[in-house]
Amino acid sequence: MDNKVYIVQCPNYDEIEEKLTSLVNLMGGMGKFAKNGEKIVLKANLLREARPEQAVCTHPSVIAAVGGLARKEGAVPLIADSPGGGYRYTAKTLDKIYRTSGMLGAAEKAGIEVNRDTTSRPVSYADGMLTKHFDIITPVFEADAVFNLCKMKTHLFTVMTGAVKNIFGVIPGLSKTGYHAKLHDTTRFAGMLLDLAQYISPRLNIMDAVLAMEGDGPGSGDPRQVGLLLGSEDPLALDVVAGEIMGIDRTQNPIIMEAERRALEPNRIEEIEVIGANLADVKVPDFKRSQVSAGSLGLESMPWYQRILEPLAKNAFTVRPRVIWDRCIACETCIEGCPVEAVSLVKERAFIDDDKCIRCYCCHELCPEEAIGLFSSWLYQLLKPA
Ligand code: SF4
Ligand code: SF4
Repeated sequence: MDNKVYIVQCPNYDEIEEKLTSLVNLMGGMGKFAKNGEKIVLKANLLREARPEQAVCTHPSVIAAVGGLARKEGAVPLIADSPGGGYRYTAKTLDKIYRTSGMLGAAEKAGIEVNRDTTSRPVSYADGMLTKHFDIITPVFEADAVFNLCKMKTHLFTVMTGAVKNIFGVIPGLSKTGYHAKLHDTTRFAGMLLDLAQYISPRLNIMDAVLAMEGDGPGSGDPRQVGLLLGSEDPLALDVVAGEIMGIDRTQNPIIMEAERRALEPNRIEEIEVIGANLADVKVPDFKRSQVSAGSLGLESMPWYQRILEPLAKNAFTVRPRVIWDRCIACETCIEGCPVEAVSLVKERAFIDDDKCIRCYCCHELCPEEAIGLFSSWLYQLLKPA
């Protein structure tokens, strides 16, 4: 795999075309990634219906700028993603998200199509170490290449979401919940993500870190101006560098740790050549991390924890999702998105059954009203990493 990560400073989205072109030129120019007549999927992060300033989705100007460069090479770009697991993967859902995220307007202006085909195809990946079969959205199946256009965000379950995690969006709608149900510890979930990233093998990875998300991401964290664009041919390398910028200890990042266990390189910053801006100059030391789960306390991967302690001490060692009743509008997105049917409607408000809940935080990620709060015990507060 390629071990180079490129960084360009981009203080705001008004300068995106110029800065994005600089980044791609630094990487060898768009001609290296897109050829005349090729169908290219621009895999955005379209997690849920949110405005660009909420920093939930990849900014539409980034997608349009990449698509514009690909078009100049004669390629045919198509914007596609399957939103978070609580949303049915329908043309109506996609249209709402395209419109609110600003993607539709940006696409029309740049002459790029948005995907409305909501079919999917089963695929096999014999080399998958954990997962050998996936269902993936049809435009990705049919594309000559995927450009992975992710957002820099914290993530309650996987600690951060960057290039590797963004690829999970090729799994259609509610099918995503099945992966959370089957793989509810972060180590195994990270393993599935690495298998999927290797199968999809995006030709180009670009991270929108102009306006990132800190705190309890990826759906309800706080926007944070970082002013960067990052690029790499390797999604893992990109995440290693992004994690450094966000100040996330690699040992607390389940994707990086699983990559290390699998001897996938590069998984350490020392193995990566950073080109462009100086990494030390662009780190954000006070970047607010998300509250973290047992996985990040180093407990979850231990068999004795899973077998003996987890059922007894789940509430003590993890952050619990809680419905904020006066914000809940009973839209049922969290009910659809919960992989283990732990959420139900009680008196026209969502209610979470703590015993059933596996702490995947999909409900927090998907709630359009930010009506799922997080609660942690005093023991968790004592043990959590600094
Ligand atoms: S908590 Fe309420 S508003 Fe939020 S997703 Fe669930 S039902 Fe909808
Ligand atoms: S209630 Fe628990 S298991 Fe269900 S989506 Fe929320 S965090 Fe995940």
